[in-house]
Amino acid sequence: MSIAENIQKFENITSSEGCTLIAVSKTKPAEDILQAYKCGIKDFGENKVQEMTDKFEQLPKDIRWHMIGHLQRNKVKYIAPFVHLIHSVDSMRLLKEIEKQGEKAGKVINCLLQIHIAREDTKFGLSEEELEELLQSEEFAAMNHIKIKGLMGMATNTDNIEKIRDEFRSLKELFEEIKKTYSHSNIDFRELSMGMSSDYLIAMEEGSTMVRVGSAIFGSRNYNT
Ligand SMILES: *Cc1c(COP(=O)(O)O)cnc(C)c1O
Repeated sequence: MSIAENIQKFENITSSEGCTLIAVSKTKPAEDILQAYKCGIKDFGENKVQEMTDKFEQLPKDIRWHMIGHLQRNKVKYIAPFVHLIHSVDSMRLLKEIEKQGEKAGKVINCLLQIHIAREDTKFGLSEEELEELLQSEEFAAMNHIKIKGLMGMATNTDNIEKIRDEFRSLKELFEEIKKTYSHSNIDFRELSMGMSSDYLIAMEEGSTMVRVGSAIFGSRNYNT
């Protein structure tokens, strides 16, 4: 199937549920992004700062760029001026740097806190305890160049559907709990970013508001380049 046909399919599935489709374009050329853009997609996800910055410079300026990969503190400054949403905030130190760069850029940077839901050691993210500690801290309360729009999580990479469902369900529960417990001007809990090509349907059934779909739209990635 072509990129256009894939987009059509995913748009039909997500828009009827009020879920935002984020086309994950990492490793793919600008032409592929333009094809998706011409089908009406405005939200694109990237996981590398340099690649996202290059694509931002080449492509239409109304694209909303989502940083979905692990972000190093010393690179925040390159994306701060244009990034739409950072999904992968996984430490207080990173959040502090985003606050600093938001202030420099004269803007409020939208963030999701990435939660470690998979029972694998390899995935980044905050534990529930770390999340609560962060949200309760005075340092966090003083930040006014960031806005926490919700949570992000990645399920374990497994064929066990029930395990994936359990992980998404517990993230949704945590989301609802945080949403009702914390009210502060830099918290505006609306988005739950979960689900990718292999598990977006389960994620949507469990309450996802943003699915991050790459290979099922653009085809499989070649990392050997
Ligand atoms: C690459 C990536 C995706 C998309 O993965 P696909 O399996 O290609 O849909 C989603 N989320 C994150 C964080 C990613 O790094």
